[in-house]
Amino acid sequence: MSRTVYVNGEYLPEEEAKVSIFDRGFLMADGVYEVTSVLGGKLIDFDGHAVRLERSLRELDMAAPVTKDELLAIHRELVARNAIDEGMVYLQITRGSPGDRDFAFPDPAVTPSTIVLFTQNKPGLAANPAANKGIKVISIEDIRWGRRDIKTVQLLYPSMGKMMAKKAGADDAWMVEDGFVTEGTSNNAYIVKGNRIITRALSSDILHGITRAAVLRFAREAQMEVEERSFSIDEAKQADEAFITSASAFVMPVVEIDGAQVGSGTPGRVALRLREIYLDESRKAAV
Ligand code: PMP
Repeated sequence: MSRTVYVNGEYLPEEEAKVSIFDRGFLMADGVYEVTSVLGGKLIDFDGHAVRLERSLRELDMAAPVTKDELLAIHRELVARNAIDEGMVYLQITRGSPGDRDFAFPDPAVTPSTIVLFTQNKPGLAANPAANKGIKVISIEDIRWGRRDIKTVQLLYPSMGKMMAKKAGADDAWMVEDGFVTEGTSNNAYIVKGNRIITRALSSDILHGITRAAVLRFAREAQMEVEERSFSIDEAKQADEAFITSASAFVMPVVEIDGAQVGSGTPGRVALRLREIYLDESRKAAV
């Protein structure tokens, strides 16, 4: 069955939704995005995603085509129209189509931004069996640009990283810069030593994960220790546990790094506990 998607103020069947070939998102990756999970037909951490979107737009001098309230209404309408119980809502805003190709930004008064939203139906997202097994990661050099805190649609290198992982028989890649892990291709990276959770501090080196913020808050509330600092692949291999977080993977245990088993080689106690807390608390706060 065809999805109903949202494009520039209209709800349309996906086959009828169109964006110009001159759109700067298409020509220059001049766009930002967000992915919000849906559980039980409700949005998880919507506020966090909306606030980060506003920040991404501001950092790139891009106009917001809708208010936060309108955005929530569009998300809800798409979830309802597509009868999503578990899945995601993808949102993208680009600097629009100036009707030609030019490096200089168009005048926002003349060229409105493009806004697109669509749903992804993923029944069983919360009960993902991968969480019981854990995932394998490889390490790759982080050669992305220097403003990874802005959630842009420049996802070519992360896509290449996923393919490198796949080719190596792994599930994902952790990126390394100057000897330290930055983050996963589409997630934040953590290790656990005893009762202490270690993850890289926020800066322009990594995306400020919305799931990261929630998970660290829940960890502190559960009296776990949190240390925001960089770690190397060698330190990660020696850790008791490792895991990743993202809006669609929630908390996902990592059981192997570059072929070396982490801890017992099975999902760790801390990661699984955090996954449970995150899912419980997020469902309660869903909108
Ligand atoms: N880092 C990167 C590079 C990502 O692409 C993502 C997911 N989009 C994350 C971290 C996790 O962010 P969030 O928890 O907000 O999904």
